[in-house]
Amino acid sequence: MKNSSNDILKQIFGFSSFRPNQEGIVEALLDNRDVFAVMPTGGGKSLCYQLPAHMREGLCVVVSPLISLMKDQVDAAKANGLDAEFLNSSLSPKERYQVFQALDNHQLDLLYVSPERFAMPEFMATLKQARVSFFAIDEAHCISEWGHDFRPDYLSLSMIVKYFPKVAVAAFTATATHKVSDDIVNKLGLRNPHLTRASFDRPNLFYQVVPKESLDLQILEFLHERQGESGIIYRTTRKSVESTAEFLQEQGVRALAYHAGLTPKQRKENQDRFNRDEVHVIVATIAFGMGIDKSNVRFVLHGDLPKNMEGYYQETGRAGRDGEPAYCRLFFSRGDIVRIRYFIDQTEDPNERQVAEKQLFQMVRFAEANVCRRKSILGYFGEDYAKDNCKTCDICMGDVERSDATIPAQKIMSAIYRSGQKFGAVHIADIVVGAKTQKIKQMGHDQLKTYGAGRDEDKKYWRRMIDQLLAQDCLIQNQDNYSALELTSKGQLVLRGKQGFEVILQKRGKRKSFKGMTGDYCQPLFAQLSNERLRLAQEEGVPPFVVFSDRSLREMALYFPDTPEQMSGISGVGAAKLEKYGDNFMTIVEMFKHMHPEEAQKRSLLKVPIKIQKKRKKAGKTLLETLALAEQGLTLESISQMRGLTEGTVSQHIEKLLEEGQGKELDVDQLLETSRRLKIEELFNQHSGQSMKQIIEASGDTVTYAELRLVRAFMQVM
Ligand code: ADP
Ligand code: MG
Ligand code: ZN
Repeated sequence: MKNSSNDILKQIFGFSSFRPNQEGIVEALLDNRDVFAVMPTGGGKSLCYQLPAHMREGLCVVVSPLISLMKDQVDAAKANGLDAEFLNSSLSPKERYQVFQALDNHQLDLLYVSPERFAMPEFMATLKQARVSFFAIDEAHCISEWGHDFRPDYLSLSMIVKYFPKVAVAAFTATATHKVSDDIVNKLGLRNPHLTRASFDRPNLFYQVVPKESLDLQILEFLHERQGESGIIYRTTRKSVESTAEFLQEQGVRALAYHAGLTPKQRKENQDRFNRDEVHVIVATIAFGMGIDKSNVRFVLHGDLPKNMEGYYQETGRAGRDGEPAYCRLFFSRGDIVRIRYFIDQTEDPNERQVAEKQLFQMVRFAEANVCRRKSILGYFGEDYAKDNCKTCDICMGDVERSDATIPAQKIMSAIYRSGQKFGAVHIADIVVGAKTQKIKQMGHDQLKTYGAGRDEDKKYWRRMIDQLLAQDCLIQNQDNYSALELTSKGQLVLRGKQGFEVILQKRGKRKSFKGMTGDYCQPLFAQLSNERLRLAQEEGVPPFVVFSDRSLREMALYFPDTPEQMSGISGVGAAKLEKYGDNFMTIVEMFKHMHPEEAQKRSLLKVPIKIQKKRKKAGKTLLETLALAEQGLTLESISQMRGLTEGTVSQHIEKLLEEGQGKELDVDQLLETSRRLKIEELFNQHSGQSMKQIIEASGDTVTYAELRLVRAFMQVM
């Protein structure tokens, strides 16, 4: 019987169900149909082409704009057991040769390439021979001049449909206004594509705005609550990036800076170290982000007001790609508005200025209005958020103070109504405070009943009140008539006293921290699991999230899986990862249970949701069995043979045992030949501070991870 895409989803990727829209796209590609998909960051676009690439005969060619991301993407695909390679300028001639051989032998599911290859005729000829099943164009908005990230190289992709008239083309993007969308479909020449436009809602992101007071200290306080989690702190200028990063470093936080003033090499290095969880915090300008596929960014802080909602959405969107809860906090002060206005005023082009003004207004409205933040963001993208309470923003969670402002609102709206709904915000505020302007005299507006009714507050107050009324849909601005303010039906209800009007006051002082979504997983175990993840990642030279996502680790720390059946029930644990890493993580769980029987007891009633039954050779191996064999004086090699485990797993058992203070009788020279042990100690001394991967390379591949780990474990207890 043929496997369905649902089975493959479970077996290969270890996921129990498709995300919204994924299935439709996969089916279309299995039918060799063109696809155009707009899905937000973290929506799971890669899976949409990787899964059919695996299921279909032939090669899927993936076009991806950033060389820096390609390797991670390929590593991630390989970790799931797919046959993937990439071709770009970073490969050595030998590596390139190997990729071409794999192509010639039709061994690959996926080939990642950069767009400029498509301008090379010989590359097109190669592809002709390669039995291409379909093309996947990632970040497809790069083909549009209207988009924010146009890359001329992408234009050559329009050749694809001409050279390969029978091969399907799938285009993916996270940022498409409708104008950009149409442009992509046209430029690529997609033929009656399967169209998907996913919601831009990111339900796992918690949005919050807090008053900015002493920013650096506020950031520090936040970081103290979230130790060990990865996050990005955005600031607007290079100077502010540096000063915040320096402050944090002085306070003992391992934070790095990122901005366009650093050398490309430094930038890359800082980004890599963040990607690889070597540092948890990066302080950056908006120059940082495009090259980030890191799935476990747990928070994004904005130290300053962003210029527009699109930018804010993209930046916060880098949090929580793995679907796990993540936190977005904007520190807001009205002083930032003044700063942005200053720049707007310098703009020559009146159109540009108007656009910038409008964007600023939308941003301020997001920060200040008594409107669900999520509704506000989605509204910006033209999406209607239907729920009354999103439960994942400060407004909906009641984490702000509200204050009744019905009377001031009525004063404003009455002034608007009585002056005929023909005037803009400046003039209306003048009426309410009772200003003596030329225009007021001319129009006779000093005769209105509301003239001077708001004398007790200043003009700024009334301008803000108008902003609030606009934000909460009590007023609209007439686009044709110099932004004249008009009442909406909601506004009329408030004016006639049929409905109240509230504004929010930002709560000062300590606010309750948001714990609702994190779930009841065991944090000490999570910490151990993520150490193991980091160690494996370093050994293999891949980012930790390629090994397992945060979600996978959290589920492990919730369900305590210690058999392959249970392990394969964990989200993100497919067959390849189970085979490769399962033992390592089960060992840690097992050890943890051994050391903390009360925790284990608590969890024993929880059942891992079993995704699929897999026949597996062996279950329930114990560290103590390894210990017993080692104590009998067997070598690493023979223990591994007897137990049917890899040497790596056995040496890991021994390492664990030693760490826990067991196995004091063991002798490294019994497990390993003395000459090898000496050689490895020598290597460690010569290359201290380097990763195991580097040491193995330095040795010319004459030693193994298992041996290194074993010797290191003994060196540490001596
Ligand atoms: P995008 O490219 O759309 O930003 P990715 O393809 O990088 O998103 O996927 C984001 C994360 O979501 C990855 O960690 C991926 O493993 C995970 N993911 C994708 N599809 C699913 C699914 N059906 N169930 C659970 N997790 C998924
Ligand atoms: Mg992607
Ligand atoms: Zn909300």
